[in-house]
Amino acid sequence: AMEDDGVIWQNGEFVDWRDATTHVLSHGLHYGSGVFEGVRAYDTQKGTALFRWEEHLDRLYESTKPYDMDIEHDREELTEATLELLDRNELESAYIRPIAFYGYDSLGVSPKDCPTDVAIAAWEWGAYLGEEALKNGIDVMVSSWRKHASSQIPTNAKTTGLYVNSMLAGEEARRNGFVEAIVLNKEGNVAEGPGENIFLVRDDEIFTPGLSESILDGITRETVITLAEERGYTVHDNVSISRGELHTADELFFTGSAAEVTPIKQVDNVTIGSGTRGPVTEELQTAFFDLVERKTDDHDEWFTYV
Ligand code: PMP
Repeated sequence: AMEDDGVIWQNGEFVDWRDATTHVLSHGLHYGSGVFEGVRAYDTQKGTALFRWEEHLDRLYESTKPYDMDIEHDREELTEATLELLDRNELESAYIRPIAFYGYDSLGVSPKDCPTDVAIAAWEWGAYLGEEALKNGIDVMVSSWRKHASSQIPTNAKTTGLYVNSMLAGEEARRNGFVEAIVLNKEGNVAEGPGENIFLVRDDEIFTPGLSESILDGITRETVITLAEERGYTVHDNVSISRGELHTADELFFTGSAAEVTPIKQVDNVTIGSGTRGPVTEELQTAFFDLVERKTDDHDEWFTYV
């Protein structure tokens, strides 16, 4: 269970954590009609800072578009609310969860008169897949579930309803003794993890499935592509990756706001490369953590200081 003290910002007000509730007939609960973000604030050498907050806000507003949802709070208000939330909850580092969903009115599938409810919560959350995972990598399985095709549901919008697919894939993996899943797309190519993008290293070049592979356009994905290119790597970010190429990779790793940069050491019990965090993964992981902890001063434009 989560800590339940502190405050949550809900529809323009700060409310006690336990009072941040919603009606059981909310549209979003029945039909998955919510959009959300997962953002980290890091305890940096220059104080607490939101990492790539503007890009997360862009994606949040963009995710509302296919659903014709109107967040009646502008960027400034959501930014102010989040900074105040960290302050009120005395958080030096945090995982931040903004969410907007169709709320309570009538229960037809059409959300016509439903309000768009908006909330932001923040709490301390360590390494998503564990500290040990960051260092030594994780064992994953290719899920028997496929990703939604982008012709079936917009996979580039971060929609709550999509995550039953993530839950099925992740829980299938955990029931089978693995830490996480890799999910193939409808074509059978590698898409992503349940909540992570995936990267492959082979012969010192880097590959990641293109945006047309039914993936979320990950902000950590884009960050890692940038960091890799700055270090002289060739990054192929518009390719299809077949299942078999996972096994023959030199290195594999996941990226995500929650998962950060997590090495993958086995897929379906097949050892990847040397079976531990590979050198390219380690270099990019170090670059990532040095960046977000502001041990370097590059890309200061990616940080919103509290
Ligand atoms: N894919 C999926 C399905 C996700 O849920 C996430 C987490 N938001 C990601 C990829 C990684 O995206 P980001 O780096 O923006 O967190």
